[in-house]
Amino acid sequence: MDTKKEIVDRLRLAFRSGITLSEQFRSAQLTKLMLMIKDNEKDIVNALHKDLGKPKFEAILAEIDMVVNEIHYAIDNLPSWMQADYVSKTLATKLDDCFVRREPLGVVLIIGTWNYPLQLLILPMVGAIAAGNCVIIKPSEVSAATDLLIAELIPKYLSQDCYAVVRGGADETMALLQNRFDHIFYTGSQAVARSILQQASVHLTPVTMELGGKCPCLIYGRVDIAAAARRLAWAKFFNAGQSCVAPDYVLCSQATCDALLPALRETLKDFYGKEPQTSPDISRIVSQRHWTRLTELLKKSSGKVVVGGESDQEDKYIAPTVVVDVAKDDVLMQEEIFGPILPIVIVDSLEKGIDFVNDKEKPLALYVFSDETSVVKTVLQKTSSGGFCSNDGIIHISLPGLPFGGVGASGWGSYHGRWGFETFSHRRACMMRGWALERLNGLRYPPYRDDKLSWLRWTASPKTFCSLM
Ligand code: NAD
Repeated sequence: MDTKKEIVDRLRLAFRSGITLSEQFRSAQLTKLMLMIKDNEKDIVNALHKDLGKPKFEAILAEIDMVVNEIHYAIDNLPSWMQADYVSKTLATKLDDCFVRREPLGVVLIIGTWNYPLQLLILPMVGAIAAGNCVIIKPSEVSAATDLLIAELIPKYLSQDCYAVVRGGADETMALLQNRFDHIFYTGSQAVARSILQQASVHLTPVTMELGGKCPCLIYGRVDIAAAARRLAWAKFFNAGQSCVAPDYVLCSQATCDALLPALRETLKDFYGKEPQTSPDISRIVSQRHWTRLTELLKKSSGKVVVGGESDQEDKYIAPTVVVDVAKDDVLMQEEIFGPILPIVIVDSLEKGIDFVNDKEKPLALYVFSDETSVVKTVLQKTSSGGFCSNDGIIHISLPGLPFGGVGASGWGSYHGRWGFETFSHRRACMMRGWALERLNGLRYPPYRDDKLSWLRWTASPKTFCSLM
């Protein structure tokens, strides 16, 4: 088996050969990637079920279709994304060709995580391939079945000179990071992000950080409670709450909480029946370690469980759970929950709710539920988050036209659609000059004189060129 260095060297050699530069090559590799997903849909669904008990419906919606749609979008738009952008000129640069050219970065590393083990690895890879890079992907060892399947499939479908899978956990990832990359794209926790950043700093490698945090859902003003309960429950309990953009907690008034609880109970009964553990539509917690972390959180919380609360260690099951009377400093409010537990925190007014959010790190997503436009606009204006969605949850990440990424502690950089292409491209500033207008150019040469300076300032001003046109 190749060592990690040999793999990086092989890809670097391929990159330097220029093979990834043409639109045809990129497009052909993206088409093969799409074939890989389509040919192996059944195996992918099975692997996701093995790792997370993921329902087929959720696997197709959030992993297979998300990736296939992204590939279609990239193939369709690649010719226009690859076009140079011509910029406006001054009189002094009138005869030059001045443009921004998108160039691939080189050999890039994508480190994935386990909650959407296919989507979070392959979707950034689409941007990296579209931008003309050679790519190493490192799946999460926690989602072992999908990890193995991806490692088997990628070399069967894609160019082995240009793309590779490296498997392993923390030690292997750290060993891989000893090598120089031209970009590192990491999805995962903030804690691990710090180690990755330290390693990246050795080679001054630029990074994209797709992290997490606590995504709030504010419910204020008039609201259609039945619809709100359905959308909230779907967004929260999709993938058993193991989504980086799942609503982590709800902020609302006591009156809203009183109305929401019966609606949530009703909704959960409709979604998963009287005994959710027997429902095929609810995922399992990914590992015993994560199951223990979540059940410990529930035990330590001083809040009151009003819906769910049941768990089964052997089955790695935790029921969709709602907790009320949650104090602002409760253990459930300290760190991202990343599981099917929904705390409701009573904050009486919208203004105080906004202050509550702004006192914490900027979240990856922020949700507001309200019939009142003024409430939605106020929250949008007075808060900051990676993404924002009113009257729904999670769904905003399905549009490739919208950038997906965090802000502040929830992440740096973005991808999806053109944003992924841009993340993995260098925007090279190009000025193609000939030898014309040498007298005009001569104004900048010594000996310096005031009259030359005046002329130069006039020719270099964008206003001069506009007024002459
Ligand atoms: P994880 O354990 O799968 O780790 C992520 C990756 O880092 C894996 O490939 C793993 O092998 C590697 N890794 C783990 N420990 C390491 C170490 N010490 N050194 C180097 N590499 C290491 O996933 P996780 O960290 O449990 O991820 C959960 C977090 O990810 C949550 O906070 C969640 O919000 C966040 N997340 C963010 C996004 C996003 O798109 N922004 C998506 C999903 C998850």
